[in-house]
Amino acid sequence: MALEHPWMPLPFQLDHINLWALADGDGWTAVDTGVALPPTRACWEQLFASALDGKPIRRVIVTHFHPDHIGNASWLTERWQADLWCTQTEWLAAEYALRSRDDADLDRRVAHYRRHGIAEEHTAKMRARGNPYPSLVGGLPFHFMPIADGETVTIEGRRWRVITARGHSPEHACLWCEDLRVLIAGDQVLPKITTNVSVWPERPRENPLRYYLDSLARFLRLPADTLILPSHGLPFRGLHHRLSTLVQHTLPQALSGRASRPNRVGGIASAIRESDDAEHRGYRWKRRLTDKALSQRAGPHAPRFRGLKPPTHRGPTPRPLVVQVIPSSASLASVGLPVCGSQPAIS
Ligand SMILES: [Zn+2]
Ligand SMILES: [Zn+2]
Repeated sequence: MALEHPWMPLPFQLDHINLWALADGDGWTAVDTGVALPPTRACWEQLFASALDGKPIRRVIVTHFHPDHIGNASWLTERWQADLWCTQTEWLAAEYALRSRDDADLDRRVAHYRRHGIAEEHTAKMRARGNPYPSLVGGLPFHFMPIADGETVTIEGRRWRVITARGHSPEHACLWCEDLRVLIAGDQVLPKITTNVSVWPERPRENPLRYYLDSLARFLRLPADTLILPSHGLPFRGLHHRLSTLVQHTLPQALSGRASRPNRVGGIASAIRESDDAEHRGYRWKRRLTDKALSQRAGPHAPRFRGLKPPTHRGPTPRPLVVQVIPSSASLASVGLPVCGSQPAIS
């Protein structure tokens, strides 16, 4: 399986997203697309010119509707006459987010946050900012191919099973290839930071944390040596350890912050955000480690990386980076994940 891993810039504190390009016959299947802003499109242009062997993108799969994932779906599918594949709810959620931009929508949004104790200075900023979604998502393709939990998508002759999850987004799709023992995890399982779990204005009485935890449990069925390809942070092995850390430590720690706060939902939101920030700072530090140190920290089954130096969106336009996953287990090596040295990193 040839696999390209472009590292695209994001204009947020979380400053990158991993996208995946899977060799697929005479072209590529792209998984996720980056935000619809010039630096990300410049990265794509470089990939088209240099890293995709001159082959077209035949299909775009989007894990969920957040702007960093679906932002360029329209642009890519139009450019390559490719199809968009995603779950129905994510497509509808994107459509809704694109259309929610009048004053009444904004009023409802601000009222929601105010009800949960968000300070007036912050709601004023929200109001001034409006709905940022349309500026980060360049429209949606008019039609799409719906995928659903349990269905399989065949890529380069291999079957990838769709596993959906809730809590982070309404019908987030992960892709699991049993042959390769690889999970494209989107934002559902991240190696360091905690997935954002929020109560949204249009679903004010939903319990997204329950959904998220229930969804995490579904991934316990996957083999312990599964290679996780997350949308943010580095690929890793140790799925079960990560899941138990999230369930037993990180999320309870975030929730414990709730007790000291006057407002339940606002407290949860703040506590999780604080927890994320701490994790995020840790991640920023850790990504400066050498690949050797990284392997040692992550244990003997950790994949090794070469040329892993993510660009920053500050300063000149970042360039894409092709990262190679070098499997440490013979079984993964034998099924053809990229081999060290076959694909030089672009830095
Ligand atoms: Zn997301
Ligand atoms: Zn994301």
